[in-house]
Amino acid sequence: MLFNAIWPICNEMYFSHNRSKFQSEARWRPGLVLGIESSCDETAAAILSCEGDVLSNVVFSQVTIHEKFGGVVPELAARAHLGKIDMVVREALATAQISKHDLSAIAVTQGPGLAGALLVGVNYAKALSYGLGIPIIGVNHLQGHIASAWLADSMFPVSCIVLVVSGGHTHLYRHEVGGRCTLLGRTRDDAAGEAFDKGAQMLGLGYPGGPAVDRIARSGDSQVIRFPRFHRAKNSLEFSFSGLKTALLYKLRELGGPLSSQQIADLAAGYQEAIVQVLATKAFAALTQSNLNTLAVVGGVSANSRLRTILSERAVREGIRLSLPPIEFCTDNAAMIASAGRQLLMNGERPQEDFDISPAERFVAIHEENRANIGFS
Ligand code: ADP
Ligand code: MG
Repeated sequence: MLFNAIWPICNEMYFSHNRSKFQSEARWRPGLVLGIESSCDETAAAILSCEGDVLSNVVFSQVTIHEKFGGVVPELAARAHLGKIDMVVREALATAQISKHDLSAIAVTQGPGLAGALLVGVNYAKALSYGLGIPIIGVNHLQGHIASAWLADSMFPVSCIVLVVSGGHTHLYRHEVGGRCTLLGRTRDDAAGEAFDKGAQMLGLGYPGGPAVDRIARSGDSQVIRFPRFHRAKNSLEFSFSGLKTALLYKLRELGGPLSSQQIADLAAGYQEAIVQVLATKAFAALTQSNLNTLAVVGGVSANSRLRTILSERAVREGIRLSLPPIEFCTDNAAMIASAGRQLLMNGERPQEDFDISPAERFVAIHEENRANIGFS
């Protein structure tokens, strides 16, 4: 399997020796960009046009590999990336109707994520860039999610509040010109997506939990069982979801079993409501506190139908311009990585050749401490 995945790249390296082409150029001139994402359980590749439009966006999901384990198994994820990455990149090129020789840069997720999974994408991208003689740039996965806010709405204002809600992150940022981000608040424990996944597991809804809770909650009543909403203190932009998870555990113990499908739907609806109401409340509080009227909500959890409804209705009521990426750009994808990498290159960032993966979270942002007492309402 390793040989199959690496052979096309070695071939490319052997026959092309034009890597000095870019090094002599002072600044990157916008051209076609290949994005590669392999940080967790999706192998993805996408092509952006010279203008930044998405020409193709291919995602191979590993859900069928991991679902029987109830979560992502890192070693299996890395092996699956290795087996699929070349095919996914070829499909992205074919769908965009271009050749790899038309590319002018490669952007790849550098971290955070699973080390073995990241290594596959980064090494594939490095070899391809070396062979083609084009620049490569490592992209932070969170910056990729943030860039997705502009993928379908390129005119969305740059000065805005961005809420990143995914399986690993619940971060509120103030985004400014030049891509500068100030961290306004984050979760103290579980991420919102993690809360969905763990809650779904307790309810016996399987993996991945977010889409399952979203689906079943539609036939439930969120008012039947009210779950606690974590607010920390008035004006706090910090999140916490671990108490909610415990509340669900106690509720399940109290109800005993077996539960009817209506009870499960009501529990899912109540649990989901507690998560999405807190997300929306804090995102809008950040707008007020920052005196802004532009909000972007990105990451896997932004695909949640109830969250999208609440945000959209409130945005209309309060005159807020809202960017909610189309569903295919919410969960992990490579178009957002290509877009973030393209932006970095256009801003004059120097391409790197010898960067390493960074599995641990490392996102440069200014953190404004938000001190307050912890409490539930
Ligand atoms: P990562 O966390 O690796 O960056 P994603 O950005 O794709 O990955 O986010 C995945 C998370 O999004 C998972 O926790 C998943 O349960 C959650 N998610 C996906 N779709 C929905 C949905 N419709 N409702 C709620 N959560 C969702
Ligand atoms: Mg993600």
